[in-house]
Amino acid sequence: MKSFQNLGLSRELTKAVELIGFETPTPIQEKAIPVLLNGNRDFIGLAQTGTGKTAAFGLPLLELVDDTDKTTQALILAPTRELGLQIVSDLENFSENFKALNIVAIYGGASISEQIRKVKRGAQVIVATPGRLIDMLGRKAVNLATVKYVILDEADEMLNMGFKEDIDEILSKTPGEKITWLFSATMPKEVRAIASNYMDNPVELTVGEKNTGNVNIEHQYMVVSEHDKYNALKRLLDFNPDIFGLIFCRTRIDTQRIAESLLKDGYNADSLHGDLNQAQRDKVMMKFRNRSVRILVATDVAARGIDVESISHVIHMNLPDEMEFYTHRSGRTARAGKKGVSIALVSTRETGKIRQIEKSLKSPFRQMPIPTGTEVCQKQLLALMRKIHEVKVNDDEIESFLPAVYEELKDLSKNELIKRFASIEFNRFLDYYRDAPDLNVKTRENGSPERYATGSRFFINLGKMDSLDKSTLLEMLDDCCGVSKKAVGKIDIKGAYSFFEADTAKAEEILAGLKGVEFRNRAVRVELTDDRKAVPKGKKSGKKGKKFSRKR
Ligand code: AMP
Repeated sequence: MKSFQNLGLSRELTKAVELIGFETPTPIQEKAIPVLLNGNRDFIGLAQTGTGKTAAFGLPLLELVDDTDKTTQALILAPTRELGLQIVSDLENFSENFKALNIVAIYGGASISEQIRKVKRGAQVIVATPGRLIDMLGRKAVNLATVKYVILDEADEMLNMGFKEDIDEILSKTPGEKITWLFSATMPKEVRAIASNYMDNPVELTVGEKNTGNVNIEHQYMVVSEHDKYNALKRLLDFNPDIFGLIFCRTRIDTQRIAESLLKDGYNADSLHGDLNQAQRDKVMMKFRNRSVRILVATDVAARGIDVESISHVIHMNLPDEMEFYTHRSGRTARAGKKGVSIALVSTRETGKIRQIEKSLKSPFRQMPIPTGTEVCQKQLLALMRKIHEVKVNDDEIESFLPAVYEELKDLSKNELIKRFASIEFNRFLDYYRDAPDLNVKTRENGSPERYATGSRFFINLGKMDSLDKSTLLEMLDDCCGVSKKAVGKIDIKGAYSFFEADTAKAEEILAGLKGVEFRNRAVRVELTDDRKAVPKGKKSGKKGKKFSRKR
């Protein structure tokens, strides 16, 4: 197994890294560090978030910068303030007992004069978000003419966020002979364009397959009708009592609405979206980081760059339009080698998108049922029992209270005690879930909607007595209505009439297509029926003739 020292890092830096607790290099570190240490080649690293890429570029960079030279030698551009601050904090940790460097963070939403002051004191490494750096350049507060190394981190996210022009302008202010390292989770053509415009014959490395998700993420989806999504979300949260999760919505309004509903329903939730100012955003993030908020509801843009350890679940209230958004969303879990689950709540219409994402990720999704009320209760009860096992008992302090407690409970048997104790917390769930409906939309195993999943039920005035069988009915629907058997569900052939189920979207075609059609010389009559008990009477016809023909 490789060690950091084998990769060519100095003994001092290796020691610093070990002190932090990194024992073995991650794949991107193993591949990139030896190349970057040379400091003479442009470099492209295709790696997902959470793969350890900050150390992959940070460690070689710390070896390369000269702590006796006070000019700005390295510029790291990152898409968000969170990521920027994370990079600064990682670099400071790595370099603590290694080199005395001034590493300065430049980002929006905080005092610019304070940042200017810090740069003036001598910033050998600047970590910046593009927008604020442009401001600082405009004020001539930063001089990039001495920069030797430029690192573009999460380049695809920076472009997604509309920083293309800013990046162009910033790079134009750096010397032509600098070395550029670019890291990106994906390689859309816009990122490729940056590489070809600004890089010279770069070494290119990929960790895992391009666009392949982190293998530690388990991708799941649940099929639920649109109007049951919020209830399905609550079931998921209740089914995972220890959840520390991030929920994605498409819009700011959805984000707020869901967070507010969750709060009202007693969940420990908050929201993160573009309407928050920096101070509000910081407050939410602090609460999430220290886990006083356990469920954060966010929009795609607001959650970019969030690097919070041990997020157990990412839940998608809808699937994003862009594949890359899915990668970024799900990449918020399973960081630093941990496992995580990404669960998409999809309507039947969206199941096709799951197949597309699967193809692109090259990793399968598992369809999971939405837990039933009984399953939630079971899970909650077990969690409660686990808590009892794990609770820290403060023997000294509780001792003096116990005699009174024993006295109070002395008439209860052990079983009685357990039952009552469990019920204290459990009754709440039991009450809520006692008559909870099944929220699962029926689907086929392969995830495509089961034929009658979104279907309507039809009555037809033909049955066994007319020699109607399933295949004849399917043929009739195909020939007369252009409705293929894929859109048809359960068929129930009775004596003088039958029922069949078919996609609601095809209802008009079925009703219009069978109007005026004759089957064995008998006028076909079809009606939509929602009431399964109402059985319109059909008349028997023994007449033989052409299978089915249209009256002209
Ligand atoms: P990054 O992709 O740089 O955001 O890193 C993701 C997480 O992995 C961070 O929390 C790092 O502290 C952690 N990490 C990076 N490299 C290693 C390593 N070699 N061993 C253990 N943890 C690491």
